[in-house]
Amino acid sequence: MSQPTFREVVSVLDLAYPPALAADWDAVGPVCGDLDATTCSVLFAVDPVMEVVDEALLAQVDLIVTHHPLFLAGVHSVAATTAKGKIVQTLISHGIGLFCAHTNADHANPGVSDALAAKLGVADLRPLVPTLVATTFGEPATGTGRVGELPETLTLEQFAESVAAALPATKHGVRVAGDLQTPVRTVAVCGGAGDGFLADAALAADVYVTSDLRHHRALEHLAEGGCALIDIAHWAGEWPWLEQAAGALVAGLGSQGSSVRTIVSQLPTDPWTARVLPAPSQGSTS
Ligand SMILES: [Zn+2]
Repeated sequence: MSQPTFREVVSVLDLAYPPALAADWDAVGPVCGDLDATTCSVLFAVDPVMEVVDEALLAQVDLIVTHHPLFLAGVHSVAATTAKGKIVQTLISHGIGLFCAHTNADHANPGVSDALAAKLGVADLRPLVPTLVATTFGEPATGTGRVGELPETLTLEQFAESVAAALPATKHGVRVAGDLQTPVRTVAVCGGAGDGFLADAALAADVYVTSDLRHHRALEHLAEGGCALIDIAHWAGEWPWLEQAAGALVAGLGSQGSSVRTIVSQLPTDPWTARVLPAPSQGSTS
């Protein structure tokens, strides 16, 4: 089998995660790199941070595919005096391309939330917030988040434990809001920051798994009788997508007679690197 160009990799990934599905504020697609360059190996990671670039250098890959964009706001300089400029300079000087599939991968079917749901054993998936309904031509419904069913009813505590076991460990851990004995079967999930969809989850599910849930929104949701909440690390919730995207690339290239080596980054790039609990009090006499 031959090796594809970066351009051919882009066309396969664009088919799996159509750029037209991206939010209008988003910036998806190639960030840097020569589209005519031969691509023998690709590293998949959630965040385009320096630690991931170092991982790419060590693994000697030609391309990094990330979920999060490197740039979303206007950029006037990529001088290596800034963190992002240094990333661009390092990538270009080593001939490594960067490509990102962000909200297009969130909205595609299968996409980020399908990968998360599958990892948690949630099946029979439908969009939590549909943007395009399924057609009779076999096109899958797209949208944000997914709702599906567990194979059996669990308590919230049992399900939260299975979430913690299924996802890569982080210092953030798995936080739960709700009575641990609540029975749960219908599960809503949303990879990434999903507190904008709390009302949708409240209508659709027994429990909602997402990231970056904020104090007031979570409190108000619960006070209104909303479903139980499971707050997972943003990185951990989107990490299952990496394997899905790597598989889509290999399958798409394979049908064209080419192949690449794929590596899924195991590096937790969550910003939270420690969790500090109060030290047990010493010398207590009571
Ligand atoms: Zn995200």
